[in-house]
Amino acid sequence: MRTRTVKDVDCKGRRVLIRVDFNVPLAEDGSVLDDRRISAALPTIQHVIAHGGIAILMSHFGRPAGTGPEPSCSLRPVAARLRELVGSGQNVNFVEGSCVGEAASAAIAGAQAGDIVLLDNLRFEAGEKSNDAAFGAALATGVDAYVNDAFGTAHRAHASMVAVPHAMAGAPCAAGLLLEKEIHFLSDVLHNPTRPFVAVLGGAKVSDKLAAIENLLPKVDTVLVGGAMAYTFLHAQGGAIGESLLERGMVEVADRLLKEAAASDVELLLPTDHLCGTGIEAGGEVRTCELGVPPGWMGLDIGPETVERWSSVLHKAKTIVWNGPVGVFETPPFDTGTMALARAAAEATKKHKAVTVVGGGETAAAVERAGLADAISHVSTGGGASLRMLEGAELPGLASLDRV
Ligand code: AMP
Repeated sequence: MRTRTVKDVDCKGRRVLIRVDFNVPLAEDGSVLDDRRISAALPTIQHVIAHGGIAILMSHFGRPAGTGPEPSCSLRPVAARLRELVGSGQNVNFVEGSCVGEAASAAIAGAQAGDIVLLDNLRFEAGEKSNDAAFGAALATGVDAYVNDAFGTAHRAHASMVAVPHAMAGAPCAAGLLLEKEIHFLSDVLHNPTRPFVAVLGGAKVSDKLAAIENLLPKVDTVLVGGAMAYTFLHAQGGAIGESLLERGMVEVADRLLKEAAASDVELLLPTDHLCGTGIEAGGEVRTCELGVPPGWMGLDIGPETVERWSSVLHKAKTIVWNGPVGVFETPPFDTGTMALARAAAEATKKHKAVTVVGGGETAAAVERAGLADAISHVSTGGGASLRMLEGAELPGLASLDRV
């Protein structure tokens, strides 16, 4: 059994309602600042229209109140960029101000094979976030198939993700090509990894990553725990952590995870040296600490010895999954460890064909900053959604699609 994809759907002459994630940042002049989310949805849109279908697109955008149209949250700038990206020969009809109702129904009914219709912000309607069945049914009216390609929101049980496919009554409900790719890298690869399989987990809090660590621990050969959360583990081992971030409520859990790893064949590595500062802000004093973090100092990045050891672990890996920066990568020089690991992961992909998967959010931003996004097998487009996948959780937006 696998999730049905748009390639399994007969699109010819059909109105295909596609949930995309066009929640892009805008520049000061109101134009689209970064169009990667729009580009990421193009293969699915083009697949539908190339196969004689009509692509009806719906997305959320920003944070409107949910009480009706708000010009500042309209998808109008997105419509303009979408027109540029698909070219002048392609018909793109934007339904400004609404996603359901008379204007939307008329645009959907009047569209011809090969057309694109872009509905306005789903979150103008309160029913989107409350997963309202009647709103879902209204969106599903007048369309013949449903495709979800919005991975970044697939972990949210919103109407366009759940109520719409439920209202489709026997019509095909499938994953788009972007979603298919995310499922492949964040689920299939984890269940069938080529070994050695290494997970790198970093970021701010153990509590945020706990479920992911617990799900990955029995699957991986080695887990590298960096970032602020490493200090809770080091404290549990009795190490000196100075003023580094500590989650007191998680010390027992960290201790249990360390014991679980020791009792199994999994190698759980913590930093053996640290790049320390007196505070997180830029421009302060910096030193490398080898025997724990002394009082008055904070561990803000992995140290050079750890960089070397962890890079060599990554060089030997055949599958790498990475979620969470291993230092305060926003503030140099505490980006050193994260940048070095990004290079090591990219080299493993290039030299040994390792499959490398980077979770969205901060880790994706770090890999982008290293200029290495193209050298990684897959950089996920969803931060929260990719973490949920690493936890082994079922995403509401995936659960409501057909299995074939
Ligand atoms: P997350 O969203 O949980 O992946 O956390 C990412 C954040 O963790 C980034 O903003 C980093 O600056 C922060 N971070 C990583 N390492 C440390 C550290 N050693 N001390 C404080 N913050 C850190």
